Amino acid sequence: MSTEYPQDLQEVIRFHGHMCPGLAIGYRAAKAAQARLDVARPEDEELVAIVESDGCGIDAIQAMLGCTLGKGNLIYRDHGKQVYTIICRERGRAVRVAAKPGLFNRNPDQEAVFQKVLGGRASEEERQTFWAFQKEKVAELLAADLDAIFTITDVSPEVPEKARIFKSVNCAYCGEPVMEPRARIRDGKHACIPCSESYGRGW
Ligand SMILES: [Zn+2]
Ligand SMILES: [Zn+2]
Repeated sequence: MSTEYPQDLQEVIRFHGHMCPGLAIGYRAAKAAQARLDVARPEDEELVAIVESDGCGIDAIQAMLGCTLGKGNLIYRDHGKQVYTIICRERGRAVRVAAKPGLFNRNPDQEAVFQKVLGGRASEEERQTFWAFQKEKVAELLAADLDAIFTITDVSPEVPEKARIFKSVNCAYCGEPVMEPRARIRDGKHACIPCSESYGRGW
């Protein structure tokens, strides 16, 4: 691994598996939130993150801020937006970090190469061009002034309801237990979501 990156970023890269522009944005967002909330060591203060996309950047939020799906302090809202709201309950503070438009703009040549790589049709040379572009983009995002890449606002530190424990019911179709509020009713019996969705497709 490259040693040009600071220690905390190296740990984020290890967690995510590669360095990419999305991870760079998540890393910068996590650092910005830490600074704004004045939380130097997030392991000392439980944070809650509400994230509005499921891209690479979320791994930086998890690794940097200790907000994880399993602990219930990472809340995912499927809005397709690079917006991170970080809440510090103890301090009664919250910050909303929103990526500015245009951060991932590509010129038409870059876009063509990008599409080929995504589609698995790129030549070795095109792949190298792609990674060179990604690397340049990462460097740009890491070096940018915070206010060039984010709109950062203090928001109300309202924390969504803490994770609750629900009782389980058994799906009548596959036999697997399912948390009661997620169970559906199919033909008068409990069904898990995958089993209920196989119903009513019109054939
Ligand atoms: Zn990535
Ligand atoms: Zn089932």
